[in-house]
Amino acid sequence: MANFVAENKNKISQIMNRLNRKKTAFILLTFMLCATFAHAQKELKFIEKPVSSGKRTVLNRNITAIIVHSTYNSFGDEKYDIDLIIKQFSRYRVSSHYVIGRDGLIYRLVKEKDVAFHAGKSQLPNGQTGLNSRSIGIELMTSKEEAPTEQQIKSLTMLVNDIKKRYKIEYILRHSDIAPNRKTDPWNMDWEGFLQGIK
Ligand SMILES: [Zn+2]
Repeated sequence: MANFVAENKNKISQIMNRLNRKKTAFILLTFMLCATFAHAQKELKFIEKPVSSGKRTVLNRNITAIIVHSTYNSFGDEKYDIDLIIKQFSRYRVSSHYVIGRDGLIYRLVKEKDVAFHAGKSQLPNGQTGLNSRSIGIELMTSKEEAPTEQQIKSLTMLVNDIKKRYKIEYILRHSDIAPNRKTDPWNMDWEGFLQGIK
């Protein structure tokens, strides 16, 4: 074996060099792919689902709060069908700005500059009412039996951090925080864990 190595030293080092080059190229390629993926993950993407009811257009509004909710379609089996959820919203003449699917997809129903009817009779900790006109509503597709998925929390965190960059947000609250006698959503959510991801 020692002889073989001595005799083929050049050849072996050539092979080793080639392997090393391949290894370096492989590591570089993996790194580039990861970087691209990480970048793509950071970009917020929306699926436009504009609604015609459950909202009001206004000239100027002062957005100071973000309210998180849970929602699902309670008519039939398709709990998490976005179109059926929107249909249900229109039946009750309510809406929110965003709905986040179980897979983390973010649907935009109402533009942030417009008022969405998502809060109902409610109150901020500072006593302010009329929350719809001061807030952005985000619904997570969740039933009372299920918790939000990891992808949903990731998208919610990205969305809230993005909204925070654009407005002077004073409150990030659950629907149950602003209407404790009427509402219990968002259901089964690790709220403190979510808040830890907010910048
Ligand atoms: Zn709610």
